[in-house]
Amino acid sequence: MREIKYIVVHCTATPADAKIENIQRYWKAHLGWKNPGYHYIIKRSGEIVKITDEQNIANGVGGHNRYSIHISYIGGVDKDGKPIDNRTDAQKHALFNKLVALSEKYSNATILGHRDFSPDKDGDGKIEYYEWIKACPCFDVKEWLQQYTPDLDLAV
Ligand SMILES: [Zn+2]
Repeated sequence: MREIKYIVVHCTATPADAKIENIQRYWKAHLGWKNPGYHYIIKRSGEIVKITDEQNIANGVGGHNRYSIHISYIGGVDKDGKPIDNRTDAQKHALFNKLVALSEKYSNATILGHRDFSPDKDGDGKIEYYEWIKACPCFDVKEWLQQYTPDLDLAV
């Protein structure tokens, strides 16, 4: 078993209607990756697609992949390519449930967003917007997990 330290949330940073096959092709053809970028991708419908086994390594965050699980929702950019949290309610619900399940399985792991791995340049203990390597996953994962109420979401 791999020891898992981080469960990392991503966005695909693609148009919302991007096909998983095309994302996988991009990893291989353009980035030259042997491993996929994520373990799971969440479609707009909320369907969670397993890309590779949790025991395999995925290329989500350079330098941290050996001990990380990566999960990504399809979306994260507007029509001009600017970062936006455009998760559907179904994606939020699926993401929340998957993160709960993974954190039960890997009880020592910390849940983070990709951008939380950015270096804290001014050393104030907070990773601020101007310090982000990228905006991914385009929302504050910790804050969202604290506020998210699945029941309310379903009632909408
Ligand atoms: Zn990412």
